[in-house]
Amino acid sequence: MILSQTHSNDPATGECNKTILIVDDEAIIRDLCSRALKGYSVLEACDGTDALSLFEQGGVDVILTDVMMPKMNGLDLLKKVKEIDPTSVVIIMTGFAEKDIILNALKDDADDFIAKPLNLLQLKTAVDKALVKKELKEELASLKNLDRLKTNFLSLISHKFRTPITAISLFLQNLATGLFDPEDEIYKQNVKMIYNEACYLERMIAELLTFSRVMVNGESLRLERCDLSTLIMQSIAESKEVLSKSGLQSVLDIDPLPPISADREKLGFAIRQIIENAYKFSGDTGQVSISLKSSEDRAVLQVRDTGAGISREELPKIFEKFYQVDPANTGQVRGFGLGLYYSREFVRLHGGTISIESEAGKGSCATIVLPMQELEIPA
Ligand code: ADP
Repeated sequence: MILSQTHSNDPATGECNKTILIVDDEAIIRDLCSRALKGYSVLEACDGTDALSLFEQGGVDVILTDVMMPKMNGLDLLKKVKEIDPTSVVIIMTGFAEKDIILNALKDDADDFIAKPLNLLQLKTAVDKALVKKELKEELASLKNLDRLKTNFLSLISHKFRTPITAISLFLQNLATGLFDPEDEIYKQNVKMIYNEACYLERMIAELLTFSRVMVNGESLRLERCDLSTLIMQSIAESKEVLSKSGLQSVLDIDPLPPISADREKLGFAIRQIIENAYKFSGDTGQVSISLKSSEDRAVLQVRDTGAGISREELPKIFEKFYQVDPANTGQVRGFGLGLYYSREFVRLHGGTISIESEAGKGSCATIVLPMQELEIPA
């Protein structure tokens, strides 16, 4: 049986909306703790198994647990919770004489101990301290994650740049042997390949510059009045990807909609990304249809292509940072796997959504939905 109870926040004390899970098989202890923690949201469980189910539902900030309980004891609960989320914070309620329990709990990374019988003031202080510790742990985890992402990014960039540079230097070595006449077909082929690889490098650098430009203001938006159809037409006109696929038929169905308040750079980035992807992941023939319509108080932009499509397994991952579908793992797929990730972030900042429906071999359809009521433009 799971017992749960939530006290609403107490505005008088100004406590923040944090959730404490109290685990004890004695109702009287749970009741005592939950009174001492007035002002927090409190969940209660009468054994480790029920506590674990509540924890797995998410939203628990601190667990305060007894040790001796039926079904699953407090130490097993501690172990399981730390396996699921190493940044979780668990306080063990136990007698200070119980040294073995304390040692075992420490081994499993218990965050604090409270002596039984309970002192309610100490209990409140321990929970407050535990919440600060949780915040620090989360900050540390996010810094580590950032560090990992930076390392991934650097190795991805080096990999992406090394392949074309190696190719260019090999082709140049060929030409430098002096064995080929500039009029020979093989000489011309080498020059063409050097040119192609140089263009690839140039596009990579342009893409990196775009990322650094749109990242300058981080999450803040520089709102101005924007006309969506102009943003779409600009994306099409300025895209080398679109220009390079002249064999693809482009079908436009753009309704004139009232202007919205948007960050031109960030929203333009997202729009350009789904349009460029439609061309990039299509062959030399086929069709890309771009439509802009209004639906109630929303603007709906759809970009449909008849290209490679995305398999069911890959589809949920394409919005992840650095994710690219590159089955042969050649590293030659253009881009950094950041386009859709940032597109989603930017569309969200505008209160909108972005999604892609697709099937391998049957093309894709990317949709951006944006609220049309004007966002407030700061003075
Ligand atoms: P990149 O910036 O490297 O192009 P994205 O984040 O834009 O990466 O896209 C991630 C992956 O999603 C791409 O590598 C590609 O495999 C897949 N993808 C995105 N759009 C399409 C599309 N229209 N058709 C097929 N695959 C697509």
